[in-house]
Amino acid sequence: MKYDWMDGYLLEKRGVTKDLQADWNWVRYHIGGKMFAAVCLKWEDNAPYYITLKLEPAEGDFLRSQYEDIVPGYYMNKVHWNSVKPDGNVPDSLLKEMLDKSYELVLGSFSKKKQRELLGMSCCGTECQNCSFYGNMCEGCNECGGKVFHAPAGRACPIYECSVKSKKLRNCGQCGEVPCKIWRDTKDPQLSEEVFEENIAERVENLKS
Ligand code: SF4
Ligand code: SF4
Repeated sequence: MKYDWMDGYLLEKRGVTKDLQADWNWVRYHIGGKMFAAVCLKWEDNAPYYITLKLEPAEGDFLRSQYEDIVPGYYMNKVHWNSVKPDGNVPDSLLKEMLDKSYELVLGSFSKKKQRELLGMSCCGTECQNCSFYGNMCEGCNECGGKVFHAPAGRACPIYECSVKSKKLRNCGQCGEVPCKIWRDTKDPQLSEEVFEENIAERVENLKS
């Protein structure tokens, strides 16, 4: 197939796992145990014959009307799933966009808390498992509802308060204001300005990935 970047592109996404469904000869890509993309392989030579992914029904309908190489999902619910011919005329950029949307749709079907767990991140883009406080002073903000040890007494961290409780987002990556004043106001006083800026850049990058 001409989209030889696809496997690496999907596996770079946070929380994605891959398996082979041997009875169907499909390579499947999952997030949280739910499939969001598959490559259907021929039995005779394992050559791909369809790339299957999920879209909002209206978008799937529209794209099927624009590209003859996008058809209703092969052996899937034809309202929600679409199949792309692997050597057709769908541009790489469009297929990437469709795969991104499929990943987001399936990820978005989980609760916001579960989404953060699957992404391995707190709402502020920090990877708790890499934090020196994790498991000793802190169980992670997903577990304690944002009431981390460095939050104001009895209250949630202001970032958690804003993104999760008030805006009902998965994380700040879904907010156009990131990195906002609340982020800057929650600076750890032990960090230099330079290190804090690096920390912000890293968290923003995490939220985008
Ligand atoms: S202090 Fe707690 S919530 Fe914050 S990054 Fe570390 S483990 Fe996560
Ligand atoms: S304003 Fe946006 S970026 Fe700032 S804490 Fe709230 S959700 Fe996060």
